[in-house]
Formats: sequence, C-alpha cells, structure tokens
Amino acid sequence: MLDTYRHQGLRKRLVQELKELGIKDWNVLNAIEKIPRHFFIESAFEDDAYENKPFPIERGQTISNPYTVAYQTELLEVKAGDKILEIGTGSGYQAAVLATLQAQVYTIERHQPLSTKAKILFTQLGYPNIQTFYGDGFKGLPQQAPFDKILITAAAPEIPKQLLVQLKIGGCMVLPFGKGDIQEMLKIVRLDKNEFEKETFSTFTFVPMLKGIED
Ligand code: SAH
Repeated sequence: MLDTYRHQGLRKRLVQELKELGIKDWNVLNAIEKIPRHFFIESAFEDDAYENKPFPIERGQTISNPYTVAYQTELLEVKAGDKILEIGTGSGYQAAVLATLQAQVYTIERHQPLSTKAKILFTQLGYPNIQTFYGDGFKGLPQQAPFDKILITAAAPEIPKQLLVQLKIGGCMVLPFGKGDIQEMLKIVRLDKNEFEKETFSTFTFVPMLKGIED
C-alpha cells in the first residue's frame, strides 16, 4: 500500500473542507491530515477516499464520512493518554484517529471479519495503542473499565446503561441516539456516581447498533 504525494495533497484539501464545515480542533484536523484513509476502504473507492463521503465496507456496514468522524472526535475532547472505548470498529479509521491523538484505544466490533481485518491493519500501520475486541458493544468491556471516554459509532436505539457505569466520574460518552433513519448526537457527562448531564447536538445518519455478535 502506498501513500503518495497525491493522497497527501487530497488530504490537505479535505482538511480545508472540514474547517469550512466548522471543525476547529487542530489536533483532530492534523490527525485527519496524517492518516491514509484510503487504506481503510475498498480499493474500488480509492479515488474518492478523500471526498467527504461514507463508503460501504464488508457486512453491509459503512466507514463514516470524515466530517462525522471529525465531529464526534471533537466532541470527545481527546487528551493524550485518555483511555477510550469505541463501539463499532468497522473499518478501523475512527480508532486510528483516536490513536493518532495519543489515546489508549479499546475498540469493539460485533462482526468477526471486520474486527480481524482492522486488527491486521492496525499492526501493519503501526498503532500499538489500539486493542481490538470482537463482541457486543452494548456490554462494553467491564474488565478494562473504567474509561475516560466512550464513543459509539453506530445508531444507539437506547442509551446503553451498561456503558454509562463503565465511565469514570468526569468522563463522557458521545453517541448518535435514535431508532429512525436520523439520529441526534448526544454527549453525556458522568458528573457523579449517579449523576449524568446530557447535551444534544446536530443530526446524523449511522448504521444501527445491534445486539449480539455475528461471525
Ligand atoms: N467507527 C467505524 C464506523 C463503522 S459503522 C469506522 O471508522 O469505520 C458502525 C459499526 O458498528 C459497524 O461495523 C457495526 O457492525 C458495528 N456495530 C453495530 N452494533 C454493534 C455492537 N452492539 N457492538 C459492536 N459493534 C457494533
């Protein structure tokens, strides 16, 4: 796999577009400028890898468009060393963005082939700070908890209670929330053991968060 000057130039243009769409966090923009997104998608779509578009990946899933990735990441306010749980590894691109921001990333995927493929890619590209798990994100990773942040990258039909309790006090969870075609972005901050604060942001469209695993 090659990351050419042309790819790098296209990424600069994409970053400019994301700035115009309102993304302000320099660390997030720099991460997007650095990461070869074309490695995370099917080669058939390579020419469009740096358009602000989602693409189909295996198992009827999608890699979110770069604006959505940037928006969710900005809301998470990632700091170096943050321990972050991502639900929905998919292509692995979002996890790579978090890892580039120097977070310790734990990512779960319910489709075995996607999880395996992402794991191989993380090794090839050199992301030692990402750990991949095959499992049901509704359950989270109780053995690795608590987390500073939790990011859900599939449309949650309900707020997963088992994830809220895996947040540190002062930590936050970002998720697209809703049962229909369009979801609202939520940010939930854990203020105290039983005290949570919820804030609502723009609307987006994600593939659904589903219970159980598939092989
Ligand atoms: N973050 C991904 C986006 C993938 S789309 C990326 O950057 O490419 C959402 C992913 O969430 C899909 O791969 C889907 O299989 C997965 N998913 C849906 N419900 C899940 C669940 N309960 N647990 C884990 N993964 C889930």
